[in-house]
Amino acid sequence: MTDQRVHDDLVAILEETREIGWGEPADYLRDVQRRDLDALAAAVCTTEGEVVGVGHHDRALALQSVSKAFTYAVALQECGLDRVLAFIGVEPSGEAFNELSQLSDGRPFNPLINAGAIMAQALVPGDTLEDREALLLDRYSALAGGQLEVSEEVLRAEQVRADRNFALAHMLASSGMLDVDPHEVVQGYLRQCSVEVTTTQLAVMGATFASGGRNPVSGERVFDERVVQQTLSVMLTCGMYDASGGWVTQVGIPAKSGVSGAMLGVVPGAMGLATWSPRLDSHGNSIRGVELFRRLSDRWDLHVLRHR
Ligand code: GLU
Repeated sequence: MTDQRVHDDLVAILEETREIGWGEPADYLRDVQRRDLDALAAAVCTTEGEVVGVGHHDRALALQSVSKAFTYAVALQECGLDRVLAFIGVEPSGEAFNELSQLSDGRPFNPLINAGAIMAQALVPGDTLEDREALLLDRYSALAGGQLEVSEEVLRAEQVRADRNFALAHMLASSGMLDVDPHEVVQGYLRQCSVEVTTTQLAVMGATFASGGRNPVSGERVFDERVVQQTLSVMLTCGMYDASGGWVTQVGIPAKSGVSGAMLGVVPGAMGLATWSPRLDSHGNSIRGVELFRRLSDRWDLHVLRHR
């Protein structure tokens, strides 16, 4: 596909989905997102490093839960698969993202719901919160090919309504899963959720996964191929909250959504895709984002399980 064809298709699909006007942003982010309520962006980065962005693709947005996939990959890279599996399962939970649920052995179901994401944050090596954040920001930035930072404004909004996340960290601590202070781990988790990217940068992060862990724009190897395979497997089965099954059947690519309205998709060997639109459906997924992905998957034949 030529860059021009990618661009024209993205523009056409963006216009088609613009008409979908319903859905509300996350309540607690309403103030932070007041300027962006009707923002709409899509971007693609191919494994050849070609980047195409349309709409508000250069505006900053918070990673939110999309960060869960990246932190899981960092934990896998730093600690190895066996150690991470000993603390975090790989089973879809079928429940809301912030449910206080655990497998019968005490592990969180998977790293893409809050309990598992908090656990993954605790596995990132470092003596202090600052050390762990420095490592995460370094790896996130390498994925994106540009320096990323925490948005203090988003972070403040996160901190105001963090009770549920503290409850999850205490649940893990009471099962003997945490050897670090639960409050500190939640702070780290909220900070990773508040890291800002543009939609274009998010597409490059996805393309780094699509390229087996090597950033196709900068050429830097960020993760081993096995780490990427593990992360994408979990994204395919668990990445879209409790709508993950429907997602696999309809869109069929590993993905992760976030409450900011961000969505990341990865087509292994081909491209990273990112969309952004803050109005959410009842599962917490971006309404226009889901529709953009559905249409792009159809138009470009992206379903990873289609007969070839
Ligand atoms: N920071 C949010 C939380 O933990 C992330 C939620 C999300 O994107 O799903 O509540």
